[in-house]
Amino acid sequence: MSEKTIFKKIIDKEIPADVVYEDDRCLAFRDIAPQAPTHIVVIPKKELRSTNDITEEDASLIGHLFCVMNELARKEGIADAGYRIVTNCGPDACQTVPHLHYHLIGGRKFGWPPG
Ligand code: 5GP
Repeated sequence: MSEKTIFKKIIDKEIPADVVYEDDRCLAFRDIAPQAPTHIVVIPKKELRSTNDITEEDASLIGHLFCVMNELARKEGIADAGYRIVTNCGPDACQTVPHLHYHLIGGRKFGWPPG
């Protein structure tokens, strides 16, 4: 069996995190190295390694994650000014934790294209 990822350890409460939302399907916590005033990591509790692992079976789960991010953006006060939802998939995108996650980042002006 492969070793637990850091995010699985956070789900299992083996390491602490600043959790801002949790339900039976997902967890949201503040990033340890925030890239903006709001930087929340939203993860499914189901162990999918990246976007590449998503199948039709996960459609409701992924939709749920976006509804949670929508609500978190509103609670963080960034919904109207705007924000980014980013998911890094694989080495070229600099994914460092092999557990599907979405970065909800906002509270400052971003540039485009991304680096
Ligand atoms: P990735 O680079 O894979 O898209 O994003 C992984 C994110 O997880 C990074 O932004 C990194 O700062 C964050 N991260 C890594 N380890 C921890 C941790 O132990 N706790 C928290 N809260 N965030 C972490």
